[in-house]
Amino acid sequence: RPRVLSGIQPTADSFHLGNYLGAVRQWIPLQDTHEAFYFLANLHAMTVEYDPAVLLHRTRVSAAQLLAAGLDPARCTLFVQSHVYEHAELQWILSCLTGYGEASRMTQFKDKSAKEGASAASVGLFTYPVLQAADILLYTPRVGEKDFQVPVGEDQRQHLELTRTLAGRFNHRFGATFVEPNAHILKSVAKITDLQEPERKMSKSSSSPQGIINVLDEPGPLRKKIMRAVTDTGTEIKYDPETKPGVSNLLTILSALNGTPIPDLEAHFAGAGYGQLKKELAEVALETFGPIRERTLELMDDPAELDRILAKGADRAAEVAAATMATVRERAGLLRRG
Ligand code: ATP
Ligand code: MG
Repeated sequence: RPRVLSGIQPTADSFHLGNYLGAVRQWIPLQDTHEAFYFLANLHAMTVEYDPAVLLHRTRVSAAQLLAAGLDPARCTLFVQSHVYEHAELQWILSCLTGYGEASRMTQFKDKSAKEGASAASVGLFTYPVLQAADILLYTPRVGEKDFQVPVGEDQRQHLELTRTLAGRFNHRFGATFVEPNAHILKSVAKITDLQEPERKMSKSSSSPQGIINVLDEPGPLRKKIMRAVTDTGTEIKYDPETKPGVSNLLTILSALNGTPIPDLEAHFAGAGYGQLKKELAEVALETFGPIRERTLELMDDPAELDRILAKGADRAAEVAAATMATVRERAGLLRRG
């Protein structure tokens, strides 16, 4: 079975709808067709200011949400990034192959550091994409097995490209080692935008609470947020991201959640007002997230069991990562400890 790998940062108490549609939901069927590795990117979560106790809590509650959403430790490897030390080690080696100018072109860094300015951002935030490349390349399949997919949202496309570049550069300088991974991006849900600022992506760390639909939102607040989503001038329910970004985002979300193609939704809502669209969207969102929310809360009642599941995942991931690193160290000219 071909390998697949993906990660998510524990940067909030709950995942949001963009994470769910753009990532987590796609991970579930891949458990049966692929050898799947999924991880909580807690090292990445340290690239912005954080509180240690909060990070620890978020790592567990994020793991619980992934299990509640349908990841099954018997069918995939679910682990915490910091449990597998090779991630940080390979990051260093790859950072020595990354050009400063090349890293400076990453748009996520520009977006995330825009508020305080690039010079106030951490070096960790700057090298974030290199750590991401390390995450991916540790689980590179044996050379010869070509297919290696990384399901991510559209926002990660540039980082995937850098990963491919670094894999190629390492291979060129030190000998064929890594398979260049392919981004696996589901077009129709590639980017969910903020409910209050429909021109910007929905984001755990930068969206306002009113702009985000969270998997763990209580039904009341969830319904309220959807009803208050920014819509556009005019009254027609039509998909047109240029002139109607708000309504188009709501249509994208509804279509992704209930499986109805957007043109059919436009026909269904012909003559109806924005309120009707929001009402139906709220119902579907509640149906989808209600059971995940309940199961997450159950799992959080037994943190020791959660930690056991994550330890098993780390053991399996470390086997693969250690094998990759043994080759990498040798090729890169690092003396073996005698
Ligand atoms: P942060 O703001 O802390 O970066 P995030 O919301 O961007 O959080 P990540 O943990 O960085 O979430 O990303 C996890 C996965 O969710 C990635 O695969 C990413 O592509 C996907 N994703 C994030 N935001 C969206 C979105 N708005 N629409 C679709 N997919 C998304
Ligand atoms: Mg992100």
